[in-house]
Amino acid sequence: MIHEVDDIQFSFSKSKRRTASLFVERDGSVSLIVPEELSLNEIEGIVRQKKSWIYRSLAEWKDLNASRVNREFVSGETFLYLGRSYKLHVAQDLKADLIFKDGRFLIREEKLHACADLFKEFYRSKGKAKIQKRANYYQRKVGATPKAIKVLELGHRWASCTPEGNLNFHWKCMMAPLSILDYIIVHELCHLHYPNHTDAFWNEVDKVLPDYRKRHEWLKLNGASLDIVNVNQAVLI
Ligand SMILES: [Zn+2]
Repeated sequence: MIHEVDDIQFSFSKSKRRTASLFVERDGSVSLIVPEELSLNEIEGIVRQKKSWIYRSLAEWKDLNASRVNREFVSGETFLYLGRSYKLHVAQDLKADLIFKDGRFLIREEKLHACADLFKEFYRSKGKAKIQKRANYYQRKVGATPKAIKVLELGHRWASCTPEGNLNFHWKCMMAPLSILDYIIVHELCHLHYPNHTDAFWNEVDKVLPDYRKRHEWLKLNGASLDIVNVNQAVLI
C-alpha cells in the first residue's frame, strides 16, 4: 500500500527489529522497515523528519538514471577500497582479471563487461582475510568469539549476527575506512552478547570503542555512497 506525506510517496513493512530503516530503492521508490509497534502517524513522522535526505537521494537517483545508459566502466573511473579512492586502468597482459597494485586497479580489457562482478569478488576475498584479522583482534576485547565469519552480498544490511553465533558482513564494508570497518566488526561481536540494541549492548560497544557514536554517525551519513554502481541505496542501522 502506498502512503503519502508532504508529497513523498512511500510504502512500509513491519518487522520484529527495534530500529527503523529508510530506503530509496533502485527504482526510485521510498520504503521503510519499521518496528511492529509504530503507528502510521509515527511512521509519517519519520518520513517527514528525513525529508531533505529523501529529496536529495531522489535527485541523485534521477541524475544517475539519466546517465546510466551511457555509464561504463572505463579507465579513470574510481573505486573505493578501505576508505580511499583508486583509479581503474584497463590493461593487457595481466596475470589476473583484476589486480590492485601500486595504488591503482588494473582490469583485463576483455573482462571489462564483468567489471562489477570482479570488484564484488575482489572485495569479498580481501574482506574475508581482513575482517577475520580485525575480528581476531577485537574478539579478545569483546570477550566473544564468532563461530564463523562470512563476507557476502547482504542486501540492505552492513552485517548481521545469526542466532547460531555466525557473523556475516556485506562485501561493501571493504569500501569503508578501516575505523568504520572496525566499528561494524565490534558492533556485530557485541551482538554475540546481546542480540538487540539495548543500553546494555551499546555499553559493550562503548567499552571497546569509546568514540563509536562518531563512527556510527559517519556510516549513517556516508554509507549510501559506498557502492560500485548504485549510490542511492542507503541504510540507517
Ligand atoms: Zn546491530
